[in-house]
Amino acid sequence: MKTKLTTAILTLTASLAFGHGDIELGPNKGRILEFSSDETMHGEVTEKDGKLHIALLDKDMKPVKVQDQSLTATAGTRQAPVKSEVTKTENGFMISPTQPGEWLIIQYKESGSTKVVTARLHYDTKSCAPCGNPEWRCACGEKK
Ligand SMILES: [Zn+2]
Repeated sequence: MKTKLTTAILTLTASLAFGHGDIELGPNKGRILEFSSDETMHGEVTEKDGKLHIALLDKDMKPVKVQDQSLTATAGTRQAPVKSEVTKTENGFMISPTQPGEWLIIQYKESGSTKVVTARLHYDTKSCAPCGNPEWRCACGEKK
């Protein structure tokens, strides 16, 4: 487990150089995370009272009911990763408060037998001047 996490963080550091190029926003103006390899499942991250909520959306960005799906979130640093508390909701998952600037590594699993999909989120709360959104859900770099 520890080795896996380290690899994920190394990959994440390498992808930092690409900036905001591939940020996509969902129907509720949340940040879209890819939870499948074929665009059939997405997570839309929104914020409420300092907690992050990840709603599950299907290929048409329609809400998905949460049943067997599971999700874990890890924050902290490479040296000291910290598991976040995750609560299941009707249409997604609630993640315990995240510190501004923190990277979250989110691991999503469709059901017991399917492969884990890893997504990453930089919770950068600085606001972006052009759009007024916090950087973590700013899509200024989105390709038109
Ligand atoms: Zn922006």
